[in-house]
Amino acid sequence: MTIVCPYCERHCVLDGDTLAASESPTGYCRMYTVQDGRVGERFPHHYSSMHVSHIEAVPFYHFQPGSRTFMLGGASCNLDCQYCSNAYVARAEPAPLLYFELAPERIVALAQQHGCHNITFAVNEPTVAWPTLVELAQVAARAGLPLGVLTNGYVPAEIAEQMAQQLAFVSVSLKGFSDAFYQRYAGVPSVRPVLRTIEILSRRTHLEVVTPIVQSVNDEDIPAMADFIAGLDRNIPWHLFRLLPEYKMATYERPSIEALDLKLQQVREKLHFVYLGNFVGSQWVSTCCPACGALAIERISLGGCGAKAVAYHLQDGCCGQCGYKLPLAGRWVSWSSEDKVA
Ligand SMILES: [Zn+2]
Repeated sequence: MTIVCPYCERHCVLDGDTLAASESPTGYCRMYTVQDGRVGERFPHHYSSMHVSHIEAVPFYHFQPGSRTFMLGGASCNLDCQYCSNAYVARAEPAPLLYFELAPERIVALAQQHGCHNITFAVNEPTVAWPTLVELAQVAARAGLPLGVLTNGYVPAEIAEQMAQQLAFVSVSLKGFSDAFYQRYAGVPSVRPVLRTIEILSRRTHLEVVTPIVQSVNDEDIPAMADFIAGLDRNIPWHLFRLLPEYKMATYERPSIEALDLKLQQVREKLHFVYLGNFVGSQWVSTCCPACGALAIERISLGGCGAKAVAYHLQDGCCGQCGYKLPLAGRWVSWSSEDKVA
């Protein structure tokens, strides 16, 4: 009998008569295997890292701005991005990295102990540990803690539907806009599953999109990606990430901030919230009101550590200047009362 892994669009054959000798029975990500005739996790409830941060560091800018998040990471990935800055987690043998075994109840207790408002799984691809995260999402939701993830979105429609149902906030990495890009730089045949995931999530949960920009590799795709996102909803926040290539592309040039800014000027006419980060001193990490242009949420860029909200010019989630209702999700919380500028 052939058993196909249902969790990502690779559809690895995990067992059965057709299994070629060269194929690993654990599949590409090495996180699933066949147990009692069905696909199960090899390392359920195991994590590689946990720490407390602010949600803007992930980055999420429009979900509970200023909130404190309990951030978790695991190991492995279903893609093989040539420029990956987390290859030591994504490509390494997972077992030695998955140091912490934490039941969902323990994670919720730790998050509450540290005064966190939500939980994010953000270091590596969440769908390589999907049953674990579904369980965590349900336990956390009962305790009033929303769970969110960063994903590459290379999953079947059924998993995207489950993500929409289980997760309160999701960021999808849209790395390029062509099959050729995904084939050459991410090691998979097509961008289409990623676009479908974005479309499904955009209708059903809080969605933000992240695009790592690699100079002369995907910067020409910026207008097409903007058209696609704007076609779904002009309010979807889009984070462009000035990528400093690592791993197999460590010698590639670093994107010019000036050239990127120039490209983004046209894009800002299509989308209401276009951010540019991953360098210290970025002027494009704050939220401006799309109706009157006034500064609504002021952030500072911490370079590789994301951004931090420092001041709010809001009145009950609306622009402090003109009263426009900003598309912010989740109960709005202030990082500290001194930060709040009404
Ligand atoms: Zn306004």
